[in-house]
Amino acid sequence: MGSGQRWLFRAMIVGIVAGGVTGYYFGPEMMAVGWIGELFLRALKMIIVPLVVSSMVVGIGTLGDVRKMGRTGAYTVGYYAATTGLAVVLGIILVIIIQPGSRVALGAAAIPDRVVGKESIGFTDIILSLFSTNIMKSMSDMEILPVIVFSLVFGGILTTLGEKGRKVLAIFDGVNEAIMKMVHLIMYLAPVGVFALIAARLGSAGGGELFLAEVMKIGMYSLTVITGLGFHAVVTLPLILFLIARRSPREYALGMGQAFATAFSTASSSATLPVTLEGTIENNRVTPSSAKFVCPLGATINMDGTALYEAVAVIFIAQASGIALGPYELIVIFLTATLAAIGAAGIPEAGLVTMVIVLRAVNLPLEGIGLILAIDWFLDRCRTTVNVWGDAVGAAVVDRLAGPAQGAEPDES
Ligand code: ASP
Repeated sequence: MGSGQRWLFRAMIVGIVAGGVTGYYFGPEMMAVGWIGELFLRALKMIIVPLVVSSMVVGIGTLGDVRKMGRTGAYTVGYYAATTGLAVVLGIILVIIIQPGSRVALGAAAIPDRVVGKESIGFTDIILSLFSTNIMKSMSDMEILPVIVFSLVFGGILTTLGEKGRKVLAIFDGVNEAIMKMVHLIMYLAPVGVFALIAARLGSAGGGELFLAEVMKIGMYSLTVITGLGFHAVVTLPLILFLIARRSPREYALGMGQAFATAFSTASSSATLPVTLEGTIENNRVTPSSAKFVCPLGATINMDGTALYEAVAVIFIAQASGIALGPYELIVIFLTATLAAIGAAGIPEAGLVTMVIVLRAVNLPLEGIGLILAIDWFLDRCRTTVNVWGDAVGAAVVDRLAGPAQGAEPDES
């Protein structure tokens, strides 16, 4: 990390702490600064679609030959599946050992508004969402998954067109480089942006005391989720990074500092994507083609933190409802929590909604979501940070396993 980057990272940490402290003490009054956070968020969101399209097209287009694309794709999917699976298993083990739901009663909770009407989300919906009937509409609605599929196919095809394809690729490469420069500009807003996002959110939760009271009500549940996320972030992923990518986890994590701070403040993997790419490519020197392939895809489908949280939350709801789960149900939870994490968009509290897939699969009451609603915004920030860390580690791992690109690498920045 350069000294400018280090300065920015420190300023963001100060922003987060100041946001937490002011939000804690001044409560709802801090909602007045919400618009500043919104400004930062909008600036990040503004560049997501052009960034995803240009990164994926350039990423796939510069991987070289088809075999290399296949290898990179296979390692990427293998990494996503393995780490998500490990996260879910960890979540299941912890929630069974800690039993956070055994002293909580479900009571007469209602199904939260946010998930009403989402009961019928299923496996086929996730598959169907891969393709858009109108890619322009998907772009304007920020439906990232079909945009990724489109860009992957488009970039892959460009590599078969010879000279013509190379010219188009060069244009996308120029667009990508310009967008990455825009990220630098936007990041000047980051310290005040993260301050305002945290202060206003804690303010809208009623300030620190109310928030802590909510946390205490389901304290063991929060503790289980945070322990799981912490273990995955501090033990599992660094071990993978060290053993497979042969990177120093400490240095790599330092290079991702701004991305972590952005993920925690925005609760959105997608909004954090520009900063994730900057951290992997510029600070950690991952080959651009690998990072541009692994990170955008990961921001949308690789969510270790979300998968772990879904498993913990669902089993917690079962415990609070007094419903015993057998090995069959646990396997179903394992599979559907993975699926629900893949299906969750990289936006705030998306995991809360896709949790209906898991709850329905094992016939648990959707009302249970009401139990965990009040503090979900906070746990969302924690799991989003882990999701982003998982993507960043994935970029280094895939880069190491699939090897550097053999084709032309238009940008070495
Ligand atoms: N907010 C998470 C993300 O963007 C998704 C979720 O778990 O709700 O990664």
